[in-house]
Amino acid sequence: MAADTDSTDRSPRLRGYDAKRDFGRTPEPAGAPQERSEDGLRFVVQRHRATRLHYDLRLELDGTLRSWAVPKGPTLDPDARRLAVQVEDHPMEYADFEGVIPAGEYGGGDVIVWDRGTWSPADGTDARTQLAEGSLHFDVHAEKLRGRFVLVRKGGRGDSGGKPQWLLLHKRDDDAEAGWDPEEHPHSVLSGRTNEEVAADPDLLWHSDRPASEAAEATPGRTRRAGFAPVDEHEVAALDDVGAGGTWELQGRVLKVTNLDKVLFPGRGDDPEPVTKGELLRYHAEVAAWMLPYLHDRPVNMHRYPNGAGAKGFWQKAVPAGAPDWLSRWRNDAADEGETECYAVLDSAPALVWAANLAAFELHPWTSTADHPDRPTWALIDVDPGPETTHEELLLLVRLHRTALEHLGVEAGPKTSGRRGFQIWIPVEQRYTFTETREWVEKLSKAIGATVPELVSWKWQKDDRQGLARLDYTQNAINKTLVAPFSVRPAPGAPVSMPITWDELDDPTLTSDRWTVRTAPERLVEVGDPLAELIGQPQVLPSL
Ligand code: MN
Repeated sequence: MAADTDSTDRSPRLRGYDAKRDFGRTPEPAGAPQERSEDGLRFVVQRHRATRLHYDLRLELDGTLRSWAVPKGPTLDPDARRLAVQVEDHPMEYADFEGVIPAGEYGGGDVIVWDRGTWSPADGTDARTQLAEGSLHFDVHAEKLRGRFVLVRKGGRGDSGGKPQWLLLHKRDDDAEAGWDPEEHPHSVLSGRTNEEVAADPDLLWHSDRPASEAAEATPGRTRRAGFAPVDEHEVAALDDVGAGGTWELQGRVLKVTNLDKVLFPGRGDDPEPVTKGELLRYHAEVAAWMLPYLHDRPVNMHRYPNGAGAKGFWQKAVPAGAPDWLSRWRNDAADEGETECYAVLDSAPALVWAANLAAFELHPWTSTADHPDRPTWALIDVDPGPETTHEELLLLVRLHRTALEHLGVEAGPKTSGRRGFQIWIPVEQRYTFTETREWVEKLSKAIGATVPELVSWKWQKDDRQGLARLDYTQNAINKTLVAPFSVRPAPGAPVSMPITWDELDDPTLTSDRWTVRTAPERLVEVGDPLAELIGQPQVLPSL
């Protein structure tokens, strides 16, 4: 094992590093103490395809990651003794890294977070002493690995040139499992992706030659990656053969689908036929290629209505039990106690159909991406009518925003909410904090509201607004969301939120709930998505 065992060649003295975590996975200010999980020290194993494939076993201790390269990978098999070559301590920042180290840089190759959790020294022993003496017994609580492991240094305390060689083994305890092979568990616990999939489409690069806080870099053009493949129309049509339930094969995934004949939405005046769950699934498959560019890479809050649009729904934030292994997930390291830790990321047509089968159709993606959850890529304006707001007054408010944004030279696009309101989505470079986008939108909307004070209320409580509209800038916050483009709303006829052109505001037939699951696919074929060209635009907001 040589250079391929490592991804950084920096000094092991990492304690002096500023603790700032550039991944932005926590809202703590820069310089805050290193994150330490409540239950113990961080444990991570990364699967690293460098010159040679190996697994990097990393144990948090004293603010750094003690690291060993394990060519054959860790195993639960108590009969296996795996070579583990001790390598330099790695910075804590590296624990969450999943992506590509550019060829030619130290450790060049692809990396996934293969397993993670916590570890603790066995039975109150002192890990520093044990490591110094060359025999560490420790307990692991991770997603794949668990139970008591032992690291034993070969050849006593000495280091016979090169890097210290250790053996890694699993004790014969309740968690031991004969024949357990890490290669049979190839998926990332962060994203559900394999090394091959990450290599083909990485979110992040890691530059070994930079300080840890600056080493991770979002892949250029990542948020503007090429479109998603539409679902083949024959695959869509095959849903008709499934009947009320069964399996539906879509883009290589076999999905179990249920209660397809159940009515989820009553009909409405212009289309009295009720809308079934089967139609909802079909719709998600039909619009997947249009919708996924707004959802991929983002945690999603899903509003589920298993008893139909007329009944009360509930929020599904955590990935539910029984979700398929292939579903992409994102773990929120910054979650406080009682907050959701593991979110779904909807990044494929099968994932969208999986959600529809849970009646999770009102999809609220975060405005930030999973790699930088505290840095939004959209600023949002929510033009929310009150009971007294007429349609004309509502359109006036949207047009005033259009005029202001044009005046400022800011690109933005309107969309219907699918209910009564309209929203304006503004792409922004991934550099602002939520406070910055919120304050920017607040200033803009307050200036606009001041020109029509008879139409707008700034009261927080709906009852205090005297029926007036609200220009809601408060959605510009982490884990605050608006409904995704093309997402279905819980209302008769299954209306959807639809991006429109500014000029369509002048269409006398425009209403916010004009398009439904039955009419939206045809519009997309004819008109397309006017908002799509703004996705991923690294727009700088002018100061107001
Ligand atoms: Mn490595």
